[in-house]
Amino acid sequence: MSQPRIWFNGELVAYEDATIHVLSHVVHYGSSVFEGIRAYDTDRGPAIFRLEEHMRRLVDSAKIHRMDLGYSVDTLSEAVVETVAASGLASCYIRPVSFRGHGPMGVNPLKNPVHTAIAVWEWGAYLGAEAMEQGVDVQVSSWNRPAPNTLPAMAKAGGNYLGGSLIKMEAIKNGFSEGIALSVDGLLSEGSGENLFVIRDGVIATPPQTLSILPGITRDSVMRIARDRGYEVIERSLPREALYLADELFFTGTAAEVTPIRSVDHYTIGSGARGPITAELQAAYFEALRDTANPHGWLTFVSDA
Ligand code: PMP
Repeated sequence: MSQPRIWFNGELVAYEDATIHVLSHVVHYGSSVFEGIRAYDTDRGPAIFRLEEHMRRLVDSAKIHRMDLGYSVDTLSEAVVETVAASGLASCYIRPVSFRGHGPMGVNPLKNPVHTAIAVWEWGAYLGAEAMEQGVDVQVSSWNRPAPNTLPAMAKAGGNYLGGSLIKMEAIKNGFSEGIALSVDGLLSEGSGENLFVIRDGVIATPPQTLSILPGITRDSVMRIARDRGYEVIERSLPREALYLADELFFTGTAAEVTPIRSVDHYTIGSGARGPITAELQAAYFEALRDTANPHGWLTFVSDA
């Protein structure tokens, strides 16, 4: 089966034709900003989850890195809808990426052209289907998140993921599914590609932006869902040992969705299985993704375009 077409600088091109030169700035210096979005199969066809918020974050990431994309949030959102529609996929993962292209060599990127591409593919549960029910085994990483005055964490930028890859590789080599990074101060931050939630005595806590986390859109969605259901949700600094003493832990992310954590550093969390609040929030999140009544206005239906 042929691969879906890729939107590249304003037009849909064949998968094979969406290529760049090896001397592009991004290849040498990691100068890209990107997004990860999902479209879900609903009774009204594919629905893209929180499209505008994702494209706004892309534009924010670009602004932080002084990249002029040349496209508005609206134009980028329309391009995503067009790419999903053209793919014919009922559900998919969507990857918009903007990057510095071929131009003068050297670190200074200001004269290199900026390109934007949007690709889609089918992608199941990021940390495994079984993990959604059973939970994952994770470790605290020996790698920290970057200090706030080094790589800006509010930008979802390619270069940031060199740190993420070290966290992920270390965890996999050690037999875990994922690593949790601490901030430079040794406080809980996030996973290599997920935000973190800690539940104890019915209170749901998550590390704040100041601890070098990506402002996750799933994190925001789950906080809103939890508050709507009457839970107390607080953004607060937490020490490492709060993981070990938690009743429940879970990750959130576009790819990871809501993934329970059943152990950290071989400490059993709660009963060692998905906890009841995690199960409730996970179910409510999955319902919101496919709810054609769209009570939060979170869904963009491809068929409406
Ligand atoms: N943190 C990092 C480092 C990530 O890469 C991601 C995935 N984009 C997240 C958190 C979760 O963000 P979101 O819910 O917006 O996908």
